Amino acid sequence: MSDSPIWHPFTQHGLGEPIPEVVRGEGALLHTKDGAQVIDAISSWWVTTHGHAHPRIAAAIAEQAAVLDQIIFAGWTHGPAEQLARSLRELMPASLTRVFFSDSGSTSVEVALKMALGYWLHRGEPRHRILVMDSGYHGDTIGTMSVGARGAFNRAYKPLLFDVTSIPFPAEGAEQQTLDALENACRDGAAAFVVEPLVLGAGGMLMYPAQTLAEMRGICARHGVLFIADEVMTGWGRTGTLLACEQAGIEPDILCLSKGLTGGAIPLAVTMASEPVFDAHRSEDRARMFFHSSSYTANPVACAAANANVAIWQEEPVMDRIAALSERQVERLAMLATHQSVRNPRRMGTIAAFEVGTAAGYLSDLAPRMLALFREKNVLLRPLGNTIYVMPPYCIEAGQLDQVYEAIGEVLNEVAVR
Ligand SMILES: *Cc1c(COP(=O)(O)O)cnc(C)c1O
Repeated sequence: MSDSPIWHPFTQHGLGEPIPEVVRGEGALLHTKDGAQVIDAISSWWVTTHGHAHPRIAAAIAEQAAVLDQIIFAGWTHGPAEQLARSLRELMPASLTRVFFSDSGSTSVEVALKMALGYWLHRGEPRHRILVMDSGYHGDTIGTMSVGARGAFNRAYKPLLFDVTSIPFPAEGAEQQTLDALENACRDGAAAFVVEPLVLGAGGMLMYPAQTLAEMRGICARHGVLFIADEVMTGWGRTGTLLACEQAGIEPDILCLSKGLTGGAIPLAVTMASEPVFDAHRSEDRARMFFHSSSYTANPVACAAANANVAIWQEEPVMDRIAALSERQVERLAMLATHQSVRNPRRMGTIAAFEVGTAAGYLSDLAPRMLALFREKNVLLRPLGNTIYVMPPYCIEAGQLDQVYEAIGEVLNEVAVR
């Protein structure tokens, strides 16, 4: 038994499962205290894009920490934030003219929801209803749980969650039902629709076509319902393009970015807004300002890491790495798909996913069994229920990816689900 006082997230301490200690990371590799080398096949929960301890990001963090570590951001500003905001304006869709900083994916979505409600209030047409998609995930705070899927994760908090309208996930062949449901919900006068573009991550790596995304955006535009794209997971190249929205040729009214924003090195998030959303809050009346802040808003060290991430995107062949990884995912998944336990293999950009055997819930014992087996094989994979997905850093070497898929093949044989 461990004598650590730490209470870990999404961890059942009553089971006494081992909690390995990691001492060093480089590229796609993690080194543990026991001397094991573990391949990080889930980018340390979807954040690490260019690999662990990227020298350029590490140097930017060290340099900035020695110059200006932290400064209040209400009524003050600093160079790294100004530079980052300008870069994001250049890189991201043209209609997103304003950059609001926060610290995590959850807070970026909370900010988006607050912006949407403020927009409607200040236009003199208060609207509060938020539209969401079944199986969506937007974070673990009360607000983001409210707009996410309800289940075992938030059963205890359900009485506090606010009411939303949920439209069905656009399953293959049933896309029209989703569009019709969205159209109906928009007609009732909603404030905003919040959605994960192309891939629903925590909901089980569910994928839907860009065409449907474009049509959903069009419906919201026709009804004046704000379209919030939560690209916290899909942003920064995950789906094969810088943003998933790009593949649908759409621009949201509000965009949430976090995980890959600093290359996954340090917490930071932004919520980007269109000029009308910003303008609704701009006034000579202080009561209309945007009432949101946290102590570390736009922390200079985090912004410096994000600027290094942007520089890597601009100066290193990141898109080539993404294309190569995507191609290898296609090949490896095709080989694995012949295994009798593999169901519904699918891929979007650098993300590959499939189900194991027949359906089982997140809390069934299949996931922890597989997790333990992967750990024995020194591969960091964390199945979502019976969904196995591979989402490595873009720098993973071909041989390392092969090892990941060999481990998956072995684990499938060992759990022998038909
Ligand atoms: C991870 C995630 C979040 C929450 O981000 P945190 O940084 O964990 O708060 C929100 N939305 C999506 C789509 C995510 O994948």
